[in-house]
Amino acid sequence: MPAAGTGTRMGDSLPKQYLPLAGRPLIHQALRTLCASPRIARVFVVLAEADGEWARHPWSEPGAAPVALRCGGPTRADSVRNGLRAMADEAAADDWVLVHDAARPCLTLQQIDALIAAVGDDAVGGILAAPVADTLKRAGADGRIDATVPREALWQAQTPQMFRYGLLCQALAQARGVTDEAAAIEALGHRPRLVHSDAANLKVTYPADLALAERILLDRKGS
Ligand code: C5P
Repeated sequence: MPAAGTGTRMGDSLPKQYLPLAGRPLIHQALRTLCASPRIARVFVVLAEADGEWARHPWSEPGAAPVALRCGGPTRADSVRNGLRAMADEAAADDWVLVHDAARPCLTLQQIDALIAAVGDDAVGGILAAPVADTLKRAGADGRIDATVPREALWQAQTPQMFRYGLLCQALAQARGVTDEAAAIEALGHRPRLVHSDAANLKVTYPADLALAERILLDRKGS
């Protein structure tokens, strides 16, 4: 789990992964789900070297605690690349790795199972994603619409993204300017599988996303 970002778009001095969400730091929500999955052997979290918050929120869940790696980099891809390198002693080239953003707190065990079921036998790997629901517009520099982009066949990439350790290390070693693992794998000429997810696996980017994520988590607790 890359968790070394600063979350500047949230407009808060606390990095967004530590903002309170349904009674816990945001980062604990998806980490708990990953640690609770019987399909996942080990969970590593990549922190910024100067992270002063992680130790202030002790892990109190039953079961295995995530392993903290203080090797975050300047971009998300750097953090993932550094994290993969730091876990080299524990991973074989054909082990599956799921990369999940700390900023997606509403991940469920069912979504993890669906991804693993769909991709476990795949030659390349795949990602959770949701079909685009809105009509899309391409903007001109003057803030007016240049074109309507057909949304058929367009998907929003989510995480987890699941690839074999060796292939992912190779892809990220070569990739430049990618914002997810799939793009690095695509740059090698592969075509990762899309696994249907839904909008509830949202990424917390702006303050309104935090309120929505909290609603989703509290509704699940109540049901
Ligand atoms: O900023 P954004 O929401 O795209 O970040 C996605 C995930 O990548 C977050 O969990 C964030 O903490 C992580 N990240 C990172 N290292 C960076 C930038 C972002 O681990 N340099």
